[in-house]
Amino acid sequence: MSGRPPILFPLFAELVGLDGVGPKTAQHLAQIDITRPRDLLFTLPQSGVDRRRVVSVRGLDLPQVATVEVQVGEHREATRRGGPWRVTVEDAQTVFQLVFFHARAEHLHRLLPTGQRRIVSGRVEMFDGVAQMVHPDHILRPEEGGEIPPFEPVYPLTAGVTLRVMTRAVRSALARMPALAEWCDPQLVAREGWPGWAEALAQAHAPQGLRDLSPEAPARQRLAYDELFAHQVTLALARRIERRGKGRVSEATGRLQGRVLAALPFRPTGAQERAIREIAADMAGEKRMSRLLQGDVGSGKTLVAVMALLVAVEAGGQGVMMAPTEILARQHLESIRPLAESAGVVLEILTGRDKGLERRAKLAALARGDIHVLVGTHAVFQKDVVFHDLRLAVIDEQHRFGVAQRMELGAKGAAADVLVMTATPIPRSLALAQYGDMDLSLLDEKPPGREPVRTALVSGERLDEVVGHLRGAIGEGRQAYWVCPLVSESEVVDLAAAEERFGHLRAALGEGRVGLVHGRMLPTEKDAAMARFIAGETAVLVATTVIEVGVNVPNASIMVIERADNFGLAQLHQLRGRVGRGSAASTCLLMYQAPLGETARRRLELLRETEDGFRIAEEDLAMRGAGNLIGTAQSGLPKFRIADIEHQAALMRIARQDARRLLEENPALEGPRGEAVRVLLWLMEQDRAIRLISVG
Ligand code: ADP
Ligand code: MG
Repeated sequence: MSGRPPILFPLFAELVGLDGVGPKTAQHLAQIDITRPRDLLFTLPQSGVDRRRVVSVRGLDLPQVATVEVQVGEHREATRRGGPWRVTVEDAQTVFQLVFFHARAEHLHRLLPTGQRRIVSGRVEMFDGVAQMVHPDHILRPEEGGEIPPFEPVYPLTAGVTLRVMTRAVRSALARMPALAEWCDPQLVAREGWPGWAEALAQAHAPQGLRDLSPEAPARQRLAYDELFAHQVTLALARRIERRGKGRVSEATGRLQGRVLAALPFRPTGAQERAIREIAADMAGEKRMSRLLQGDVGSGKTLVAVMALLVAVEAGGQGVMMAPTEILARQHLESIRPLAESAGVVLEILTGRDKGLERRAKLAALARGDIHVLVGTHAVFQKDVVFHDLRLAVIDEQHRFGVAQRMELGAKGAAADVLVMTATPIPRSLALAQYGDMDLSLLDEKPPGREPVRTALVSGERLDEVVGHLRGAIGEGRQAYWVCPLVSESEVVDLAAAEERFGHLRAALGEGRVGLVHGRMLPTEKDAAMARFIAGETAVLVATTVIEVGVNVPNASIMVIERADNFGLAQLHQLRGRVGRGSAASTCLLMYQAPLGETARRRLELLRETEDGFRIAEEDLAMRGAGNLIGTAQSGLPKFRIADIEHQAALMRIARQDARRLLEENPALEGPRGEAVRVLLWLMEQDRAIRLISVG
């Protein structure tokens, strides 16, 4: 599959050349991500206007859009520059006025010659007791009246692109639509009563009423499905590659695991046991494991990861665990070390900071197989890092990576099994979008004996009180995080705010007692500030949202979040998860800027009610929509033009099933349906998938 199929060329051509689209308009359209005819096709109307013909504007409930045939009367020119130019018109029952500002006389006389009949359509309103239509949307000769659809689609627009221009451009793109073979399962299409692709686009762009605009309209369902299906085919292809051929068969003996379990001061939860079993079964199988371990903060993912790493070691090989940052890698090392020691397993860390001789020594030990488990950052996947017998790669806090990175990583580890851990309790529909290529183990049970975190909402106006309480608490030896949000568009402004808060708290609580971390600091400075906090030297850590997702400071039992109303619920939940890890009762103060709107209040109250991350994530999705749930760029979540994961979650499940079945039956995408699906992948710009087909 060497290049884009020629049948799609017209849809990937330049915009210039479509009806009414010159270089200027093309530039404007690029502002809203429309650069080819294809993008126009996939930009569906967001609303519509009723333009059914009425006999007269008399008796209408104004203001209202009306479409009516009139006799053009006299023009009353503007009396001053910029003043209104009025044209009196008469419909079947009444007289009203068309009003124009900044119009050219010649143009208006040509458009509305006195004595002739015209169809006008636009918003009619009363002004000084006279009905008027300011800048009609349409003015046509009676014989052209059919050009105004009874229900006119309204498109998302951008500066410099009027609805008229947009509509013409879309129509012109529709006229270039090639006839493409059906890529959907014919049974599905028949069962759902969906139109074919071209017909669906034609319908979606010519809605007959509001119902045709809803996500449930068959044409829209079909088009959304195409998008989701293309995405799921990509994931399914990735899955095949990840699991391609033989993985390593790693059989647990239980020898090392048994020692760790015996040394544990607690018993694994049922959920942990189940996950450990699922992973061990995968690792013992011939197929390469590609599994996601999803568990809320504090659900005990580390133990599960360690048990998995021990399977690799028991089978005579090595394991690696990668964290996104230096701090997290070191924390993993610290929490794994006692477990590893009780099993007699050799543990080492490798990060970007290892240099020179020491690094070379570590690499040599790794290549000899003297190191059993390596913990580290991205540095563990550098070219010159060679394992003796790598059998498992564990990747922690993976939500920062997308499918593409995962696949790259899989490629490095040759046949190694892959376990990805995430603490982001994303709703099921999103999990399918993001991790549809993986199998899932869920830690849906928390270790017993956790004290709930007391969560309170506090108005920002009570800042002084909060600082007063904080002074008392740190006097008792407690530690606190203080999170300053990113509120403005500018990071500089936000950092200034955080630094100001830092200064304020230092003045109030004592110079040496308050630390600061933010995203602009050098990694070494950041680590140093974190280390002082972990060691208890500083009692309060002021931070922008860079507080690492997995950071563990058991003595920290207070979390203050400023402008909590600006955060997503899932993010607040994550931040709150930083406390409540030790034995002390913990508190989370959500400070908001008063007055708090109804929805904002409901959102924050939900956090007060529950610590169930999945429930919070589901409600966050319902309240805010997928786009806002997690920073899309960061989350690795795909962007869809048509599909709405929130309202069309059911389609995602069908798409995933179909994609997996298709690739089981037809892995090389051959025959007519295979060809059609390839065209779909090109159409949906699933470049990754296209590359994968050639790999597979
Ligand atoms: P996370 O899923 O957030 O990575 P951790 O693995 O860091 O969670 O575990 C959080 C804390 O809970 C750790 O201190 C760990 O020792 C403890 N823990 C893990 N499993 C259990 C269990 N089954 N019973 C009691 N405590 C546990
Ligand atoms: Mg963790």
